[in-house]
Amino acid sequence: MERFSNYINGEFVAPVSGRYFENYNPSTGKVDSMIPDSDIKDVARAVSSAKEAFNTWSQTSVEDRAKILFKISELIEKNKTELAEAESRDQGKPVHLAASVDIPRSSLNFRYFAGHMLHRKEEASHHSAGAISFTSRKPVGVTGLISPWNLPLYLLTWKIAPALAAGNVAVCKPSEFTSRTAVMLGSIMNEAGLPKGVCNIVLGRGATAGQALTSHPDVPLISFTGGTETGKKISTTAAPQFKKLSLELGGKNPTIIFDDVDVKKIVPMVVRSAFLNQGEICLCGSRIYVQEGIFEEFKKEFVESVKNLRVGDPKLATTFMGPLVSKSHMDKVESYVEGARADGAEILVGGTRPQVSQELLGGYFYSPTIVAGVKESSAIQKEEVFGPVATLQSFKEEEEVLKCANETIYGLSASIWTESQSRALRVSRALDVGTVWVNTWMLRDLKMPFGGVKASGLGREGADHSIDFFTEVKTVCLKE
Ligand code: NAD
Repeated sequence: MERFSNYINGEFVAPVSGRYFENYNPSTGKVDSMIPDSDIKDVARAVSSAKEAFNTWSQTSVEDRAKILFKISELIEKNKTELAEAESRDQGKPVHLAASVDIPRSSLNFRYFAGHMLHRKEEASHHSAGAISFTSRKPVGVTGLISPWNLPLYLLTWKIAPALAAGNVAVCKPSEFTSRTAVMLGSIMNEAGLPKGVCNIVLGRGATAGQALTSHPDVPLISFTGGTETGKKISTTAAPQFKKLSLELGGKNPTIIFDDVDVKKIVPMVVRSAFLNQGEICLCGSRIYVQEGIFEEFKKEFVESVKNLRVGDPKLATTFMGPLVSKSHMDKVESYVEGARADGAEILVGGTRPQVSQELLGGYFYSPTIVAGVKESSAIQKEEVFGPVATLQSFKEEEEVLKCANETIYGLSASIWTESQSRALRVSRALDVGTVWVNTWMLRDLKMPFGGVKASGLGREGADHSIDFFTEVKTVCLKE
């Protein structure tokens, strides 16, 4: 059985305890590999190797750091096929999706932040009192980077790239469900000539390896993407030590469709926004509100399209949805649908396990599901399901839908579908979220801030927002 290793000081090493746990292939439900059950000792080794590397890496010129990051970007691109297959094998997403979204974006993350650091300038201000003030930045030191399983390499590199570009070193803790591409990234970083210890990857569980990282006194910064409950735990550990903290957490995003749209034109995009990556994207629109006048027409088209989505072998180019990431996650998704059914909601499509071929019978497949007639106060409407499940509701007035959209603890994103520019502006201003898409979804411009409000997170990432977070800024005032 394949055993993964931690990547510490540029080398692939076994966990100090010698303990491993099983990693399952979500397509078959069979054990696929063994993950190091790393603990405080492994994290201590990684932090100490990172600290050592910081002395040189933080003094390396921006140009020289960028050269290495550009090389990592190139090598990710060169290994795209293997990385996409590995991501699918661990996570369940279709290989073609990993090859067209996850891996290109992972490569772009390095290219983007290397370029950004090469071109950015500091601020200066001339005072009337004959003085000039300017800003000067320092990297923070050893950064702790913790990522989830839904977009494994995409989100891990979204943290590593700005951290390293700004002169920091890193200890990463990828999700225990998706370690494979993180290990491959270790080899790529060696091939690109990244000095030993600049980036370390410790595999294992959140409660042990993750907790050891967030509580380590020599890690002054934690960048975390994951669930809101985990975010709370991390805040409790990090806040008393005054660590810099960025939290990208859960969402329960509304999709608001007004009656001036061309239903046939938008349905494919709304389907994608609800079910891409098995609905396991924090930005998926899981609460769909459609204005009364087009509700029936939309419902018919939407249900028909979702019925036709192909669920099954993620290796096939024709598959739209693969399995969910784990058995426990599939059970959780199913329990929300069953809860809604028991409360009298109508399951318009799905709500079952799909039929799959013999060799995939043990896999964690769940059909794309649309639920109608739910109460706004119900669990399926209030809590993050994070799977292929969307609710469908009708509304009369803008004011009414805004109230429903904002009545949630979350505030990550929303999408609005309308031909009216003034309505789009008005509604986007009124939504309590970090990102609003109008007539599109998940179109990301890395130059723009990204993050959530309320229980969806703390802080913003992207371009200078990431560099602000990954550096300490100082103001220097010079008098004539
Ligand atoms: P999770 O919170 O269970 O785990 C995320 C990471 O945190 C994993 O690496 C895990 O091992 C680690 N972890 C768990 N407990 C920890 C602890 N006590 N201390 C330190 N680390 C710990 O989340 P998940 O199930 O992997 O991912 C799904 C969640 O991520 C969803 O809620 C989703 O909305 C969210 N997410 C948010 C964004 C965003 O940008 N806002 C993006 C992707 C996913």
